[in-house]
Amino acid sequence: MSKFWSSIVSKLTPYIPGEQPKIDNLIKLNTNENPYGPSPLAVAAIEREINSSGASLRLYPNPDSEQLKLAIAKQHAQHGITPAHVFVGNGSDEVLAHAFQALLKHDDPILYPDITYSFYPVYCGLYHIAYKTIPLADDFTLRVDDYLNAGKNGGIIFPNPNAPTGCLLPLSEVERLVAAQPDSVVIVDEAYIDFGGKSAIPLVSRYPNLLIIQTMSKSYSLAGLRVGFAIGHPDLIAGLTRVKDSFNSYPLDRMAIAGATAAIEDKAYLDQTCQAVINSRDKLVAGMTALGFEVLPSAANFILARHPQHDAVKIAAGLRSDGILVRHFKDARINQFLRITIGTDAACQALLEALPRHLAGVN
Ligand SMILES: *Cc1c(COP(=O)(O)O)cnc(C)c1O
Repeated sequence: MSKFWSSIVSKLTPYIPGEQPKIDNLIKLNTNENPYGPSPLAVAAIEREINSSGASLRLYPNPDSEQLKLAIAKQHAQHGITPAHVFVGNGSDEVLAHAFQALLKHDDPILYPDITYSFYPVYCGLYHIAYKTIPLADDFTLRVDDYLNAGKNGGIIFPNPNAPTGCLLPLSEVERLVAAQPDSVVIVDEAYIDFGGKSAIPLVSRYPNLLIIQTMSKSYSLAGLRVGFAIGHPDLIAGLTRVKDSFNSYPLDRMAIAGATAAIEDKAYLDQTCQAVINSRDKLVAGMTALGFEVLPSAANFILARHPQHDAVKIAAGLRSDGILVRHFKDARINQFLRITIGTDAACQALLEALPRHLAGVN
């Protein structure tokens, strides 16, 4: 607290990211980073940008990251996506923040699941946006009808697959929601869609109220570069751009634009590494199930699992003493679960070998 803080600052409840300890040899399965690293073509493009244009770092980057928007639009051209349908930002967290301010701040409360990405309430606090949480079903799936029956709303947002459950809402259900709410913006946060889900991007050309947000931090393994993007009707994109141009004209630096563009263009690498994560996920789920864990069905690069006889906090503390980090959330409905990022097969194997020791004796 400081007398120099504005009243807004005193009332904020900031998001707390998973820890990034500066300890070597940790098995980090706590922040959904991708174990495989980015496309070599992305790294080469960043190096080229630095080398060939060391001099150009003197100059501001392209304020609209046109090259990157073009590459993203090209990927989805068969669905009618053009650069005017694309917005890019400094991580999808920034894209989300602009979307909350530009598209979700209305008189009626916005709707999102009770168990979801914990940044959403933070943006609501920052921008004074009213919200109402809609409980997920007992099996942690999202029920579209509960949103349709929730009364007037200022917009709807949810991750698909959801975080931190990993549960996927079928595309037909996403469409049913978007179609039934033509007067509300529906934002689908597809941070994990490349790990086995079907993107709603093909729906964009038919639904002017639909905005898809994706990140390059997870499937593209570029969390350190900070690039996220949104795809939607050009009117929605224009709203986001107005906020961006009132906040930071150059959210992406030259290296980010070059690296992200090359990564988007290397679809083969994306597919190959996502498939490797999916294969490891299948093995980890089988191994954890064999140890007695209940694992929610996941379409993401993490799983949410609980052991009916063992306390989640104790398991997490035990694993930590072995140098294995997993994430625990305090929300009442999931405080007996652990969220575990899918690492390499070796990392998942290390986890499976460590777990039995921490399950010895009922507690
Ligand atoms: C990781 C994550 C993001 C943020 O990603 P960045 O692009 O790294 O800011 C957004 N939404 C969800 C649901 C996430 O899990």
